[in-house]
This record gives sequence, structure tokens and C-alpha cells, in this order.
Amino acid sequence: HLDRIAEVDGAVNAFLHVDTEGALAAAKKVDDDLAAGHAPVSPLAGVPLALKDVFATEGVPTTCGSKILEGWVPPYDATVTRRLREAGVVILGKTNMDEFAMGSSTENSAYGPTRNPWDLDRIPGGSGGGSSASLAAFQAPLAIGTDTGGSIRQPGAVTGTVGVKPTYGGVSRYGLVAFSSSLDQGGPCARTVLDAALLHEVIAGHDPLDSTSINAPVPPVVAAAREGANGDLTGVKVGVVTQFSGDGYQPGVLRSFEAAVAQLKQLGAEIIEVSCPSFDYALPAYYLIAPSEASSNLARFDAMRYGLRVGDDSTRSAEEVMSLTREAGFGPEVKRRIMIGTYALSSGYYDAYYGSAQKVRTLITRDFEQAFANVDVLVSPTTPTTAFRIGERANDPMAMYKADLCTIPANLAGTPAMSVPSGLSDEDGLPVGLQIMAPALQDHRMYRVAAAYE
Ligand code: GLN
Repeated sequence: HLDRIAEVDGAVNAFLHVDTEGALAAAKKVDDDLAAGHAPVSPLAGVPLALKDVFATEGVPTTCGSKILEGWVPPYDATVTRRLREAGVVILGKTNMDEFAMGSSTENSAYGPTRNPWDLDRIPGGSGGGSSASLAAFQAPLAIGTDTGGSIRQPGAVTGTVGVKPTYGGVSRYGLVAFSSSLDQGGPCARTVLDAALLHEVIAGHDPLDSTSINAPVPPVVAAAREGANGDLTGVKVGVVTQFSGDGYQPGVLRSFEAAVAQLKQLGAEIIEVSCPSFDYALPAYYLIAPSEASSNLARFDAMRYGLRVGDDSTRSAEEVMSLTREAGFGPEVKRRIMIGTYALSSGYYDAYYGSAQKVRTLITRDFEQAFANVDVLVSPTTPTTAFRIGERANDPMAMYKADLCTIPANLAGTPAMSVPSGLSDEDGLPVGLQIMAPALQDHRMYRVAAAYE
């Protein structure tokens, strides 16, 4: 895999940092353990993985795709990083991403865009484009992403790979650089459903270092993926969300989705139409809640604690240094989010914007609850379109935001959702994803359906 990275990453730009030494040392440790007659520490011992650069890695640079963290080497591991190491997983390096995970194309990285291996002129999705592209380019068999509004599932869909957002609180956020804390969730990326399930069980589980971590058994996702592989969905009720179609959806994507639903029916599933009217307001609610939390979380980048510091000489005050550093260190999309969030939270506007968005969030949660009273899982296209061209939406934030139309409701409700490859669009020959959603802590349900469909 290191050779493959050396061969293709000049074109793909999936990696921000390749940790050759660390990877070889981790691999050698697994070999030595086996040679000494020990059993493998986990089913994934010795398997290489690409880690999104939003997770702290002790001794290895962590930039979050931002200039403001350039040169920062964390003194500790995120819980996800630690669990991977303890499972003998070989971390190849850190993957490219939209700055602070804000974006849907990986074009907002301060270190240049990642390119989609299916067509190098197109985006690999975002914000975790580097992780999903590394799978599609066969640079790594496994990767880790984070999903605040779709950043695991949307890149999975447009690169033809699997991406899972677990139930909120299922995977620890300790050591995950915060974007929007009530939405952020780490999760597995892989080329097959079973691979994703094996990785899910390595990284999931209660962590006292994260106050929102769920103290409950990890959903049995590996068993569910194995069960689903028999291809029998008899008795499973699948809800088709009527809100996810119409304007803005490519006909090729909708045709692929219809074919996917027909296939689920053929596997024995009962198909039921479900209406979730509040989902129409998910996107605007998200683009108030996420920037509001971001504007608070990013206050920690004060030029004193981490990475970049600009203009630090005896003539300037701490405030001037902070201001110069933020001006130079944050990119345009991050600045836009900080301004939107600060505005939405300001007194006089709070009730109208942030307060209303929180009410919408409750309505969306209720829509899910009502839907799941009648069906086991919900399905939709993962994205309204296939991968768009690099630059196509760069100057149109609204068009960029719409890439997450189908993925955002699950983040607002905290429920699990995943994207599984659904063939190629008959319109442009590019990958399409099928999204499968389940109730909180029922992550295994979607794995079973995904494995049967795959
Ligand atoms: N594209 C969405 C945004 O820009 C979601 C990003 C994410 O899930 N990290 O906020």
C-alpha cells in the first residue's frame, strides 16, 4: 500500500501525511507477535488504514486541512486512534479533507483538492474526500472519516465505496477536532460492508473521556453483515422517503435508486412509502446549527495554543497576533461559517435563527420516530447528483451545501445511516450510493440490509 500511495498519490492527493516509518513499525510488531506464537490482537491486526486528518495522532502532524494547525504535532492520541493502534491496525497516514470538515468536495483544504479516482477532473466528495478516494484508488483497504452532515456517506457515494455514520455517541469524539459537537461522529469507510462492520467494532464503544459517548453495548454489526450476506430480506420493512426526489436530483441517480428499491423487494423486503415532511427544512436548520457550534468551537485557535502564529514580535499585542493569525490561517469557508454562527447566536437574533433551527431539529427527530414505528429501515439516494467537476460549485456555497440534502436529517436526529455502492449512473457512468438509515442504536439493521443488497 505504501508503494501504491507513492505511485498514485501525486495525481489523487488523498494523503496530507504518509507515516512510512510508523506504518512499517506497526506492521513489524504484528509480524513479531505472530512469529512469537501469539494470537492476533484483533481480526484487523496488520491491516493498513488511512486516517482522516481530523483525529489527533501522537507524534504525527494533525492539520484538519487548515493552515492554522500547520506544524502542530499532538502530544496524545484520539480514542479512535488509540483503539486502532491497540487492534494492530497499521495507520498509513493522514488523509486530506475540507478545512475543519467544512465542505462537500475537499476543495476547501488548504493543501489542494483531492481528486476522484474515477475521473481526476471531479471531486471525491467531502469533507472526507481523502479517506474515500484512498479506498477507491486502492491506496488503503480501510479508512476512517467523520460525518457531521454527510462527510462519510457523501464521499462514499461518489467514489463507489461504503461509508457509515454510526449512531451519535457510538464512536468517541475524544481527540477529534471539534466542528459541530452535537453532530460530529467518526465512522468506518471501506470497500465492502463486512470490512466496514469489522472496523466499526474496533472503533466503537463507551469512552469516559467523551461526555456524549453512549454507555451501552456496541450494536452487533459484524454478525448482521454476515447474516445479510445470505441475501434474504424476507420480513424486513423498508421505507422509501418521498421527500428525497424531484428538483435537483439527477435522473440517472433516481433511476439507480428505483433499481435499488426493486432489488431490495426481490430480496424479500416489503417496500413502504414514508413521508417525513420536516426533512424539507433539514438543510437550512443544519446550516444554522453547525456554524453556530463551529463559531464557538473554533475560538480555541487563538494563536497561542496550537500551530500557526503570525506577527508575534514585541511591538504587537496578543489580540493583534490573534487577529493576524486568524486572518492568515483560516480559509474563506471557515470564516464564512464563523460569521454565520456568530450572527445566528447573537442576542436579538438567537430566537429567530438558532432557536428556530433547534425546533426543526426536534420535528425531524419526531419524523424519524414516526417512520420507524412502521418500518425497519429507511432508504434514499445518498446524494442528489454524482461527483461534480472540480471548481464547478467553488463560488456557489448554496450549490455546494445541497450535496448533503439527503444525509443531514440523520445527523440532526443522531440516528445511524450509511451509504453502500449502488452501481454506476446510466447518465454519466459515475458511482451512485444507496443510503440506508436506521433508528438509534440499531446500526446492525442497516448493515444487514446493506450486506444483502451489496
Ligand atoms: N458538507 C457539510 C458541511 O459542509 C457536512 C460536512 C461534514 O459532515 N463534516 O458542513
